[in-house]
Amino acid sequence: MSADSPPISLDRLVTTVAARLMAANAATSVVVSQEVLAVLVEYFDVDFSFLRHNDHSVRASVLIAEWPLRPDVPDPDPLKVVYFADADPVFAQAEHAKTPTVFRPDDDDYQKRIAEGRSLPQTSMAAAPLVSGDVTTGVLGFVKIGDREWKPEEINALEAIASLFAQVQARVAAEERLRYLAEHDDLTGLHNRRALIEHLDERLAEGRPGPVAALYVDLDRLKTINDYLGHSAGDWFIRVLAERLREATETSMIARLGGDEFVVVPAAPTSAEEAERLAGRLCALLRQRVSVDGEMLTRTASIGVALGSPGRDSTSDLLRHADQAVLTAKGAGGNQVAVFSDEMSLRTDYRNDIELHLQDVIENGALFLQYLPEVDMRTGEVLATEALVRWNHPTRGLLSPASFIAVAESINLAGDLGRWVLRTACAEFARWRALGVAEGIVLRVNVSPVQLVTDGFAASVADVLREFDLNRGSVCLEITESVVVQDMEMTSVTLAGLRDAGVLVAIDDFGTGFSVLSHLKSLPVDVLKIDRGFVADLGTNPDDLAIVRAVIALAEAFELELVAEGVETEVAARTLLHHGCHRAQGFLLSRPLSGDDMAALLAKGRVAVHYSASPSV
Ligand code: C2E
Ligand code: CA
Ligand code: CA
Repeated sequence: MSADSPPISLDRLVTTVAARLMAANAATSVVVSQEVLAVLVEYFDVDFSFLRHNDHSVRASVLIAEWPLRPDVPDPDPLKVVYFADADPVFAQAEHAKTPTVFRPDDDDYQKRIAEGRSLPQTSMAAAPLVSGDVTTGVLGFVKIGDREWKPEEINALEAIASLFAQVQARVAAEERLRYLAEHDDLTGLHNRRALIEHLDERLAEGRPGPVAALYVDLDRLKTINDYLGHSAGDWFIRVLAERLREATETSMIARLGGDEFVVVPAAPTSAEEAERLAGRLCALLRQRVSVDGEMLTRTASIGVALGSPGRDSTSDLLRHADQAVLTAKGAGGNQVAVFSDEMSLRTDYRNDIELHLQDVIENGALFLQYLPEVDMRTGEVLATEALVRWNHPTRGLLSPASFIAVAESINLAGDLGRWVLRTACAEFARWRALGVAEGIVLRVNVSPVQLVTDGFAASVADVLREFDLNRGSVCLEITESVVVQDMEMTSVTLAGLRDAGVLVAIDDFGTGFSVLSHLKSLPVDVLKIDRGFVADLGTNPDDLAIVRAVIALAEAFELELVAEGVETEVAARTLLHHGCHRAQGFLLSRPLSGDDMAALLAKGRVAVHYSASPSV
C-alpha cells in the first residue's frame, strides 16, 4: 500500500495476509513472511516487526523474519537465537503466552528493562503468540518508538494474523519432515539412496568442479551379527558405525543404501590418492570394536573408491564403478580398499557371466570334484584326501574354485555350492569305503566362511555323515584362518557343534593371519595346514623357514596335527621333514586326481617319493 491509496479495512488486511501466506511453502516461507511483515508495518504504522519461532527442545526463540531489515546485522546475530532462560521477563513470556499482549510506556517494568538493556528511547509493543493446539510455537511482534495505543479490533486482527502464521509454520514443518523422511534413512538418519543420487547428479553436472569421489563402504559379513545376536543388535551396530562415519567425514555427503552399505562423497573435489587415503582411514575406523549387548564385536569393512568427472561421467557410472571396486576389495578377502580401474570392468563382465550360470550348474552337473592326496612324506603313504571343486564351464573351459567361489558367496549361492560339495564328496568317500580302500583315511572338505555362519550348519553336516554312515573322525572340514580370526565369538560356537558331531576341524592357510595364535588353545581345532605361501620357497627363503618352524612348534605345543600345503620342490619336502613336519600335500607328491584315480591310488596305498626321505638336509 502506498501512502496515497485509501486505507483498507482490518478485514481486508487479514484477507490479504491470508492469501499471501497461503501461497508460502518451505522454500519461500521466509521471504513471504518478510513481505507480509512489511505490509503490516506500513498498515499499523509501527517501526519494527518480527516473527520468531519457539524451539522447545532447547527452550529458545529463533528469529525467522523481520521488517525492516536491520542495516548492520552482527555475525553471529545475537537476536537470532534467544534462550528463554536468559531473556528478559517480557521476552520470556513468548515461551508460553496464549493471547496477545501490549506493552506500553506507562508499563514501568517493561520500560525500565528496555532503557537498561538497549538504551533505546521509550517504545511500545504488541506481541501476538503463534499457537498450535495448546503449544505456543512462536510470536509475532510489532514495535513502535514512543507510545501507541492498540485498539481491541487491531488486537483481534493481530490474533487472526498470528494464527495464519502458525498455520504456515505447521505446514512448513510438515513439509520439511516429509522431505527429510524422503531423503534420509530411518535407522541412521543418514541420507538415503534418493538423496545420494540427487546430490551426485548436481555434483557431476557440466562445469562443476571435479573429480568427484565416491567411497562405497560395505561391512564384511554383518549378517553373522544379525544371525547370532538378533536384528536389534545388528541395527545398533550399524548405527554406531554410521555415527563414526559421520564424525570422520563431517563435510561429506553420507548415504546409507540399505543393509550394511554406505556411500561417502567428499564435499570438495578429490584426487584418487586423497580418496584412497580417506578410504584407508575409514577402514581403520570402522574396524574398531563396538560393544553390543555387553559383547565387544569387530567387523571389518571393504571400501571401493571411484572418481567421476563432471560433464563426462553419470551418477550411475560413478556408483557402478565404486560398487565394482568394493566387490573387488571383498573378493580379495575384505578388510581393504580397492580403487576402480578399467580392468575391473572387464572382470565384472566375467563375473556376471559366472553369476548367470552358477545356479544352473549346481543343479545340472557341470561341477565335479578332484582329490588332492595328503601323504606321509617319509613313506609316501596316503593319509587323507582333500576334495577340490571344479567347474567345467561351457565356453570358458575348466574353472578353478578361486574364480567362482567368491562369486557364489556374494550372490548367496555358497550354501548351495557347499552342500553340493559336502554331499558329493561324502558319497564318493562312502563308495571307496565300501570298496575297502579308504579305511583309516580322512576326507577333507573346504568350507566357505558363509556356510560356517549359517544357522544349523553343524547339524546339517552331522546329517550328511549319518546319511553316508561315515564314522567319527573320518571327515575334516577346512576353514581359512582369516575367518576364524574375524569371527571368534561365533566360530567357536559352530566349531564346538562340529566337534560334538564327530567332525574334525582344520585351520586352512595357517600363517596368513597370525592373530589366531592367541586363541588357538581355546578353539576346538584338530589340524593346522601351513599356507602354501610359506612352503613354496622353503630352502631359499629364511623368513619362511622361521615361520614354518614357529608353526611346527606351535602345533606340537597344542598337540595339533600339522599338514604342509603346496610342497612343490624336493628341498621344501626335505626341509619340512628335517624340522619335524611329515604330513604334506603338493604337486611334488601328487596333482589333484579324479575320483576314480583317487580310488586307485587309495587301493595302492602310497605315492612314490622321489627325494631322499632321510631327515638330513
Ligand atoms: P586350498 O584349500 O588351499 O586348496 C589347495 C589348493 O592348492 C588347490 O587349489 C590345489 O590344487 C592347490 N595346490 C595343491 N598343491 C599345490 C602345489 O604344490 N603348488 C601349488 N601352486 N598349488 C597347489 P584349487 O583347487 O585351485 O583351490 C583353490 C582354493 O579354492 C582352495 O585352496 C580352497 O580354499 C578353495 N576351494 C577348493 N575347493 C573348494 C570347495 O569345495 N569349497 C570351498 N568353499 N572352497 C574350495
Ligand atoms: Ca583347503
Ligand atoms: Ca590352503
